[in-house]
Amino acid sequence: MEEKSKGQNLSEQLTYKKTNVYEKADEARIEQIYRYAEGYKSFLDAAKTEREAVYRAIVMAEAAGYTAYEMGEELHPGDLRYYNNRNKNLFIFRMGEEDLEKEGIRILAAHIDSPRLDLKQNPLYEDSGMGFLKTHYYGGIKKYQWTAIPLALHGVVAKADGTTVDVVVGEDESDPVFYVNDLLPHLAQDQMARTMATAIPGESLNILVGGLPFADEKVEKKIKLNILNILNEKYGITEEDFISAEISAVPAFRARDIGFDRAMIGAYGHDDRVCSYPAITAILETPSRHTVMAILADKEEIGSMGVTGMQNCLLKDMIDLVATARGANPAIVRARSICLSADVNAAYDPNFSEAYERRNSAMISCGTTMSKFTGSRGKSGTSDASAEFVGRVRCMFAENGVIWQTSELGKVDVGGGGTVAQYLANMNIDTVDLGVPVISMHAPYEVVSKADLYTTHEAFCAFIK
Ligand code: MN
Ligand code: MN
Repeated sequence: MEEKSKGQNLSEQLTYKKTNVYEKADEARIEQIYRYAEGYKSFLDAAKTEREAVYRAIVMAEAAGYTAYEMGEELHPGDLRYYNNRNKNLFIFRMGEEDLEKEGIRILAAHIDSPRLDLKQNPLYEDSGMGFLKTHYYGGIKKYQWTAIPLALHGVVAKADGTTVDVVVGEDESDPVFYVNDLLPHLAQDQMARTMATAIPGESLNILVGGLPFADEKVEKKIKLNILNILNEKYGITEEDFISAEISAVPAFRARDIGFDRAMIGAYGHDDRVCSYPAITAILETPSRHTVMAILADKEEIGSMGVTGMQNCLLKDMIDLVATARGANPAIVRARSICLSADVNAAYDPNFSEAYERRNSAMISCGTTMSKFTGSRGKSGTSDASAEFVGRVRCMFAENGVIWQTSELGKVDVGGGGTVAQYLANMNIDTVDLGVPVISMHAPYEVVSKADLYTTHEAFCAFIK
């Protein structure tokens, strides 16, 4: 082999380069990466809503020996526990042997809610031979993307008698699916001239749910009545029960490999199940002397408010409970705790290069991506991790051979976004964002690289061990 020149050596030592994970991987490693993706795809198909994600995560945790925690219970080193907050937000934690006041808690915080169409509380009507459900969309969507695709309905109905009933229609091959109508191109001259933001108004995102009239001449709204009758027979519910229901329309697609080489995965809701799943597997699989915690949060897509969002005081309460159960001062424990805010970032897309600043964009298959800050318009609304903390995390990854990259979300003036990082940082916990780069984020079908999924799992393992 030809000897490297002085400049080549220097260049290797001094310049920062991103590494394509697949390029560096041998066959065995690619197989490992692809095998991990199979478990993730099953999780995706079983967990399209935050409630289903909590349920699936509990199944996984219980299989690993974790048990339900009630506030105020005693906690001992080695305890494996989870706290289920209202079936929509989950804390999985393992008590470590290390002194909590010295080492704090190692936290992975991801979210399990995704953009979708929620039913309104008085949703059902019929018009011109069709039955519809009115929706109010949840999270940041491009509304036009949600028309003319198969949709499934997922959720719960809390009935007047105090019982609740689960609803899932559209996932089984034998199920019907649902649909939002769009206008045919032949008549869409005006619609096509409107901007993408206004071409599909929010009030036209009505879900097509029926067309068969109830056979009774004396009834006026026959299609509506027939639908109500079907729902009553199947679930024992009436129209009024929609008022105390949470039912969402989500894409009826299943997770599939993308590409001839299967390097990527297409699915609904990668944001942020693609970080939630590695957070769960990392905490369940990684031995550690530290106290470790994985948080699966709800409501991130609409601001993290409410009783199941990360702005809720439960975050502080959980740390208080863990600390005091071990005789530690919660303020000191928080100050010593560290957190990865596990959320997705935008993958650089050459089809839309004008939106990205390439040097500082996440490149697909170049590993899990760290964002020192998020926010928009001059870093507004970000916790901006300190150089020292980023340095500390870098060391953890280097020691464990994790392939990762740095990124921010697009060009400075183009837009931006936030994550839950700030809510943990506001608790005096050093926090930085880390997660999987996503193509077509918030679309009904998003794309990620299996390599980035797997390196995110490896990064989480390195962080908590
Ligand atoms: Mn997210
Ligand atoms: Mn999002």
